[in-house]
Amino acid sequence: MSNRAIQSIRGMNDQLPDACDRWQTVEQTIREVVRLYGYREIRTPILEKTELFSRSIGQQTDIVEKEMYTFTDRNQDSLTLRPEATASCVRAGIEHGLLYNQAQRLWYLGPMFRHERPQKGRYRQFHQFGIEALGWPGPDVDAEIIILGTRLWQRLGLADIRLEINSLGSPANRARYLEDLRTFLESRHDELDESSRRRLTKNPLRILDSKDSGTQAILGDGPDLASYLDDEDQRHFDCLLEHLERTGVEYHVNSRLVRGLDYYTGAVYEWTTASLGAQNAFCGGGRYDGLVEQLGGLAVPAAGFACGMERLVELYSQQRSTTEMVGAEVWMIMLGDTAAAIGYPLAENLREAGIQVVCNCGGGSIGKQLRRADQNRALFAVIIGDEELENRRFTVKPLRSGEEQTSMTEDRLVDFFLAQRNRDYSVL
Ligand code: ATP
Ligand code: MG
Repeated sequence: MSNRAIQSIRGMNDQLPDACDRWQTVEQTIREVVRLYGYREIRTPILEKTELFSRSIGQQTDIVEKEMYTFTDRNQDSLTLRPEATASCVRAGIEHGLLYNQAQRLWYLGPMFRHERPQKGRYRQFHQFGIEALGWPGPDVDAEIIILGTRLWQRLGLADIRLEINSLGSPANRARYLEDLRTFLESRHDELDESSRRRLTKNPLRILDSKDSGTQAILGDGPDLASYLDDEDQRHFDCLLEHLERTGVEYHVNSRLVRGLDYYTGAVYEWTTASLGAQNAFCGGGRYDGLVEQLGGLAVPAAGFACGMERLVELYSQQRSTTEMVGAEVWMIMLGDTAAAIGYPLAENLREAGIQVVCNCGGGSIGKQLRRADQNRALFAVIIGDEELENRRFTVKPLRSGEEQTSMTEDRLVDFFLAQRNRDYSVL
């Protein structure tokens, strides 16, 4: 048997502890913000029947055509690792009767799988945080979702964020537009870039977000989606934009904005940033009124967005420096067996009071133990050696502030460390 080290699967990343600290901060902020708006978490399985995705995302989309991790299981059922979670939320909503005479404000966070070419910001296992509002026709709830997102980016301190928004109109109007667009693009077939030519027969709407400047110039001569909206579509869209204006949310209408999944109807939007390089969109969403019915439920209107966690955490990390990260509150250094006999119970007393204590397991000289405390970015060392044992006082050495060490009796330690909580070590 080979003893070669095994590596992870291409495009599927480990998140090491420093990264997990940042992920947790972002996840915590998400939980706080969704709570403010009354959204509740839903957790669905990572594996679903393949049909769920082929019926919802659309047969002609990149995801269903070439990106899904699909396999036949031992019962010969075709299963797929979920490439997104909206279809699963809708399935669960229908299956458990959550949409029957009631509406649902839901959110989720978890891994998704797409067999794409791995690159910065694009992975084969990635994570999405998403919002789904099932049961409201909008546009009030569409505005609510966009405002929620905006608040979240603000809370995370993200800068240079841009919201682009468009309306795809009702399915009937969109179909009329699509037909005219196809006829127009066919007449200019030879001038299109190669991937747009391929999309022409299968999914012409996707040509709108072609990165090719030649194709973009041609589109300028073609039909304009905005002029296909009827009064009802337009009223819905205007009302959404008014909501955003009243709340001070800045937006840019982009009539070429479309989304990669077939189920969108009405308003669609995307948040972009210049700080992520080529993968500049980090969150996208919109309205998908037909989806619940398409998946076998009642005609329930729905809207939501999906946000790429890797891109969001990257944006968040760009605003922070590693020096801002702090380690344990207390690093306990015990020199010798008698010190350990006192130190371990003392550590438990501090933990009982909610103070984070890391014991320096494994011994070593005081210098070595202090170095380890420092490497781990601990805030304080508590030192128990011969002198401390004799005086029944513990040495408390600040590790991040450059202040003098002090010594104190056990009964003062808890209050001392709790009082330190009010200090902002991130600026030291
Ligand atoms: P993109 O244009 O970047 O391929 P998309 O249109 O496929 O994105 P959605 O399917 O709407 O995106 O997913 C919403 C968000 O999920 C994206 O904005 C992005 O942040 C994230 N995302 C999508 N695919 C990946 C991936 N392969 N790796 C990392 N994040 C992804
Ligand atoms: Mg994609």
